[in-house]
Amino acid sequence: MTGLSDSFQRPINYLRISVTDRCNLRCIYCMPAEGVDLMSHSDILSYEEIYTVARAAAELGINKVRLTGGEPLVRAGLPELVRLIDSIEDIDDISLTTNGTFLAQYAATLKQAGLQRVNVSLDTLKPDRFNQITRRGNLEDTLEGIEVAKAAGLNPVKINVVVMAGINDDEIPDFAAKTVRDGWHVRFIELMPLNGDEPITSKLVSVSEMRKRIESLGKLEPHQVNVGNGPAKYYRLPDATGSIGFITPVTEHFCYKCNRLRLTADGKLRPCLLSEEEIDLREPLRSGAESEELKKLIKEATARKPLSHHLAEGNKHKGRPFSQVGG
Ligand code: SAM
Repeated sequence: MTGLSDSFQRPINYLRISVTDRCNLRCIYCMPAEGVDLMSHSDILSYEEIYTVARAAAELGINKVRLTGGEPLVRAGLPELVRLIDSIEDIDDISLTTNGTFLAQYAATLKQAGLQRVNVSLDTLKPDRFNQITRRGNLEDTLEGIEVAKAAGLNPVKINVVVMAGINDDEIPDFAAKTVRDGWHVRFIELMPLNGDEPITSKLVSVSEMRKRIESLGKLEPHQVNVGNGPAKYYRLPDATGSIGFITPVTEHFCYKCNRLRLTADGKLRPCLLSEEEIDLREPLRSGAESEELKKLIKEATARKPLSHHLAEGNKHKGRPFSQVGG
């Protein structure tokens, strides 16, 4: 298994790769309405460069890769990157986080290329509200993406719902009901105070409050989910074939079991999503660094992982936009 562990003895085996800072949506909790400054194309790592980093990371013990963004499916030729990463022997799990708007178009090709599973971000089941939250999206596209991804054999397809008081928290029972009616795997995520609109960031609904609202549908029983082994705690409603997960980055952080490194679209390795510390890999890559040098830098980033983030102390995270570092 992994030879990589940080200075707090946490094993590190998971690399999240942001393939682009561009996104076709402008979700209110993630980006300001006017968007954010974009990187130039030459700043962004090529697929070949990402592959080189992933290969070096795999030699150190990384065996799970997730592609994210921005919106990863706005970058042309994503299946090609999946194919490259799938060719790395020691990587046995490749997943994608997407808003789903282009998923119907690419799901089958991604699956053929080696993608195993997908998380789709979806915060409402109401068309008008979808448009308000994403500021430009179309609910039907994402719903179609979910169905096509399932039919293509991507498994599991998990639905990530960021819950916001007064905006979509009234839909918690509707999403929960989908786990019974349609076998959906739904994960409710606490809103983190990031770079979105200022008033939005005070709309945290705690997981204990979410649970209360779901238990009007039936008792939640703890449920074991074998795929992913991420930060969610899983439950099931009576007679559900799907599952309900809760992710609590704010009220009960899970940093103690953090197993991740992040590669930003412009080639910086980030030990922690919520810390601004970064180690540049792009310059060494473009100056012809060999695998050994990259591995040294990856180990350095690992050693610099902080013990935990500080959102629970009421800090608003002010740093590079989520879309650049890969949520
Ligand atoms: N575009 C892709 C998508 O929508 O899934 C990938 C990038 S997006 C930044 C990744 C995830 O971060 C999404 O599930 C999104 O809901 C989540 N996210 C963004 N801002 C957040 C915030 N303030 N609090 C909690 N989750 C957030």
